Amino acid sequence: MRITRKDFLRLSGLSLLAAGCKQAAHSVNQPAPVARAASTQPVRWGMVIDLSKCREKDGCNACVHACNAAHNVPRIANRAHEVKWIWTEPYASVFPSAQNGYAPQSYTEKMVPLLCNHCADPPCTRVCPTQATWKRDDGIVMMDWHRCIGCRYCVAACPYGSRSFNWEDPRPSIASVNPNFPTRTKGVVEKCNFCEERLARGQKPACVDACPQHVFTFGNLADPNSEPRQLLRERFAVQREPELGTGPSVFYLV
Ligand code: SF4
Repeated sequence: MRITRKDFLRLSGLSLLAAGCKQAAHSVNQPAPVARAASTQPVRWGMVIDLSKCREKDGCNACVHACNAAHNVPRIANRAHEVKWIWTEPYASVFPSAQNGYAPQSYTEKMVPLLCNHCADPPCTRVCPTQATWKRDDGIVMMDWHRCIGCRYCVAACPYGSRSFNWEDPRPSIASVNPNFPTRTKGVVEKCNFCEERLARGQKPACVDACPQHVFTFGNLADPNSEPRQLLRERFAVQREPELGTGPSVFYLV
């Protein structure tokens, strides 16, 4: 059969159209390309707290004041309504299993800074019915106050008492509002965020910068050359209740 020039052009057009459709179908079936992170190095933010340095200036609370000011944490007189991001408690109550009755008073009676442990396997995020709290790829356990419905399941699930509920409007109890950080409302849960807003600006957490004793060392636990990893190689460290399997990212040098 003889193909005329007109037939050839018509068949070529149909072939091109079919190829185009096939390509389009292929594109639709493929998953969208995943945006690449700026760096392929894994990140797990963590903190090492040197209690021997903290003991030298026990009770200065510079870390607490800096955190409260940076994050508009209210100072509520009623202990039952207290809101805490970083706070202190006696060593004996923080590490009860480390007590043997003969431990030196320099340990047992001193105060220990406490904060959210940004657990590797956080029980708090699993129980949230609205996904108002979740763990980021860099290990920071976040809160979205707009999604929080105040059910307090996360407060009950956290074995470290790291979450606070706003039983009252916190705004009247903030000494001086930082306009660069949101305030919260009555009926939502809050906690330490590892200063993710400061990390995004290339700064260290507020408590780290404020401590006159350089008690806090912050960095990437996934990097064997980071400052926290070097400290954890050189000194003996403990975590709060590691037997619970939550994998705290906060370590204490004792
Ligand atoms: Fe969640 Fe408590 Fe662990 Fe923080 S310390 S991540 S609030 S379980």
